[in-house]
Amino acid sequence: MAASWTAPDASHQMVCEAQTSSEALFVCTDEACGRRVVIGKSEPRLTVIVRGDFYARHAGTVGEMALDEVAVK
Ligand SMILES: [Zn+2]
Repeated sequence: MAASWTAPDASHQMVCEAQTSSEALFVCTDEACGRRVVIGKSEPRLTVIVRGDFYARHAGTVGEMALDEVAVK
């Protein structure tokens, strides 16, 4: 039952690069990835600007907001 592909176990850290009162821009610290997303603060919302390494696990926090609480689709 071996899968023909192996799920990558990469874990990337995302940092908040800029933010407004309503949104925060998160950027992945992995240069080869470059994932960028905008997180809505007032409402749960995620906008992917650059998908980056789609299969890597991304985590990061800004203030009391935990990035991995937002469903990454
Ligand atoms: Zn990444």
